[in-house]
Amino acid sequence: MDDNIVAISTALGVGAISIIRLSGKEVIKVTNSIFKGKDLETVGSHTINYGYIIDDDKEVIDEVLVSVMKSPKTYTKEDVVEINCHGGIATTNKILELILTKDVRLAEPGEFTKRAFLNGRMDLTESEAVMDLLESKTESARLLALSNLQGKMHKMIDGFRNSLKDLISAVEVNIDYPEYYDIEVVTTEKIKEQVNKMKSELKEIIKESKNTKVIKEGIDTLIIGRPNVGKSSILNQFLDEEKAIVTDIPGTTRDIVEGQVILNGVSLNIIDTAGIRNTEDKVEKIGVEKSLSLINQADLVIVVLNGSEKLTKEDQEILEKIKEKTAIIVINKNDLKQKIETEKLKDYILVSTNTNQIEGIKPLKEKIIELFELNQICQKDFTYFSNIRQLSKAKEAYQKLIDVEEGIKRNLPIDMIEIDLKACFDLLGEIIGKTYSEEILDHLFEKFCVGK
Ligand code: GDP
Repeated sequence: MDDNIVAISTALGVGAISIIRLSGKEVIKVTNSIFKGKDLETVGSHTINYGYIIDDDKEVIDEVLVSVMKSPKTYTKEDVVEINCHGGIATTNKILELILTKDVRLAEPGEFTKRAFLNGRMDLTESEAVMDLLESKTESARLLALSNLQGKMHKMIDGFRNSLKDLISAVEVNIDYPEYYDIEVVTTEKIKEQVNKMKSELKEIIKESKNTKVIKEGIDTLIIGRPNVGKSSILNQFLDEEKAIVTDIPGTTRDIVEGQVILNGVSLNIIDTAGIRNTEDKVEKIGVEKSLSLINQADLVIVVLNGSEKLTKEDQEILEKIKEKTAIIVINKNDLKQKIETEKLKDYILVSTNTNQIEGIKPLKEKIIELFELNQICQKDFTYFSNIRQLSKAKEAYQKLIDVEEGIKRNLPIDMIEIDLKACFDLLGEIIGKTYSEEILDHLFEKFCVGK
């Protein structure tokens, strides 16, 4: 960690400006050696300095602005220099190559953030939030990442850990002074009360964290139904009315249409198999089978039925298949004379993609918002566990609290109970990175882009 690192922090390509970022003990000196302008080693911290980058033959490579930020109030807590040069692959690379001939090496992916973590500027949840923020495509994903970046999760976990620390100290007193019988009673009562409180708070956040997948990755939605019931009309209406960010996703087969729309700040990743509708009956059947096989992977299944026809055997088959799934039954073509036997259906909504109809697919959208509580998601405080790593540790910590309660119930010796309290304390510490393994760090930061 003592060495100097450099990376291009902006996306490579033609742009007005590129930023080359350096971090480490000697980066100000190194930059100064290739800079014509003020003496960067004597300028104040957090200053922007105008000048030129010059090579070893004193040839000017580019006109630049150099930000000098001195340790410790920097992103990595080390000395940091950012060179703002003219955006363009040739210029940016030439400056980078020049720097690499000095005592500086190319940063690994996420190494700036890794240093920020290792130097104690941010915890693990905040580091993960940096990446989430870079990757966020929707408003809700951005808010979740920002909330974690601002340290909300960190504060909450710290709160739990402080309470546990108090309890553990109380237990230690108890073990050290066993002759005071009174202390044990007080301690056990205190543990019971505090653990119960923590348990219910942690449980609530674990429960709320089910929203994380929806927020970060969206709702994988499958539109399923017989040919000609109106599946692609529904998809198209979604794409027309809501902000579509991607239409055709590469790699999918021609007969599956995918679309991504943003509904209430959350992404709906819609798959529709309607592309097969103009082919032979036999092929249509294969299409339906294909849709059926996709049911398991979907977070939401929209079953489309044709209201102007009676239910068919195929409809029944589909309805049978989605019994265990989060599903919405949509009766389409509500503008036509209705023949469908609605009494055979439990819960359904009526829509029409016919443009003369005022409601259109509005009831379907409302149902999705209701089902996934999308209104609340966007208004809520975003203190959620933002990935599986955090969530699984939180669940383990929760289990330890249950073990503590059980131990007290079974009158286990206080030092046995202390083991579970300490285990819970450590697990919560792992979430924020108080304890970590190299393997976990490598795994986490390799997903970052170089330069972050
Ligand atoms: P898919 O095979 O399930 O994808 O069905 P399509 O979306 O291609 O629709 C099949 C036919 O039904 C087309 O001719 C549509 O114009 C028509 N259709 C779709 N939705 C409605 C609706 O709400 N009302 C009416 N009257 N016709 C519809």
